[in-house]
Amino acid sequence: MLARPGLPEFDYIKAETSQQVFELMAEKGKDLKLMMGGTDLFVQFRDRGVAPGTLLDLKGLPGMGDISFDTKNGLIIGAAVPLNMISSHPDALKYYLALCQAADTVGNYQLRNRATLGGNICNASPSADLSPAALVFNGQVILESSRGERIISLEDFWLGPGKTDLAQDEFLKAIQFPLPPKGSEGIYLKLGRSKMGDLAIVGVAVLGYPDPDTPAGLRFRIGLNSTAPTAYRLPDVEQKLSQNPINDEILQQAAEEAMDISAPIEDVRATASYQKKMVRNLTYNALKEIWAKIKK
Ligand SMILES: Cc1cc2nc3c(=O)[nH]c(=O)nc-3n(C[C@H](O)[C@H](O)[C@H](O)COP(=O)(O)OP(=O)(O)OC[C@H]3O[C@@H](n4cnc5c(N)ncnc54)[C@H](O)[C@@H]3O)c2cc1C
Repeated sequence: MLARPGLPEFDYIKAETSQQVFELMAEKGKDLKLMMGGTDLFVQFRDRGVAPGTLLDLKGLPGMGDISFDTKNGLIIGAAVPLNMISSHPDALKYYLALCQAADTVGNYQLRNRATLGGNICNASPSADLSPAALVFNGQVILESSRGERIISLEDFWLGPGKTDLAQDEFLKAIQFPLPPKGSEGIYLKLGRSKMGDLAIVGVAVLGYPDPDTPAGLRFRIGLNSTAPTAYRLPDVEQKLSQNPINDEILQQAAEEAMDISAPIEDVRATASYQKKMVRNLTYNALKEIWAKIKK
């Protein structure tokens, strides 16, 4: 027996219209799997030794590979847009830098030519790198079915490891991000076992922006991965940070609270106690860097 068995057999269909997708979904039910770049799927097929009867490639559907931006609607990224296209898009770089930074930490360059934001989000891995940044930019998923379009927040979309709110007859069409507040600065910090091509032990995204209506004069948004069943925000910590003028001690307190809230599980990449400490350190570093930029 091979230590790493080859791929099981499956049929491959490249969809050309949404109607074709709806019909195949209705006909094949759970025996159908949707695909973008396949970089999560093929590893799962190989490792588990099972594949669905039919793999339905949605990359060719109209609009799936497009990115659009304007200051009214923000950034809309088709589910099939590869990560390298996001991190080199001028408007994404200008307004959503932390998302581009997160995209650039995934695997390696060749992988990022295939891997998509849509796949990263639908795979719903707790360690997915795009998730913390997608959360701080208030990302929403645009889901399509024969019943029409449904738009929900990422917080409502992720239900647990590998679990989403996607119905059996729906697919992800695009992800939309509103224009960030004026003067926003963002960062994604990732700790992996190596600098190249490893999943996150901890990933933290912070977005900060001036807000003269708060005692702090600014607001932070904090997103984390790898330390709970899904990626998550820290609304209470964010709220507290806006309530007092910022200093180093307050940032340290916020980072300690982030550590206390995080709930990692022991895995092959790190112990839970190490992950918790890294939540504190990365959150502090990210807050400090963004605070320094906003203060200027
Ligand atoms: C060597 C290697 C290194 C990696 N490194 C990282 C890393 O550092 N960080 C990281 O976050 N990930 C990493 N990954 C995982 C993977 O590359 C990413 O999660 C990637 O973004 C998945 O995108 P994809 O387009 O390949 O998804 P796919 O594999 O095509 O799909 C992923 C899942 O989403 C579902 N899906 C896809 N599209 C849709 C849709 N439109 N509607 C509904 N469901 C859909 C699929 O059915 C599947 O369950 C790595 C993978 C490999 C093989």
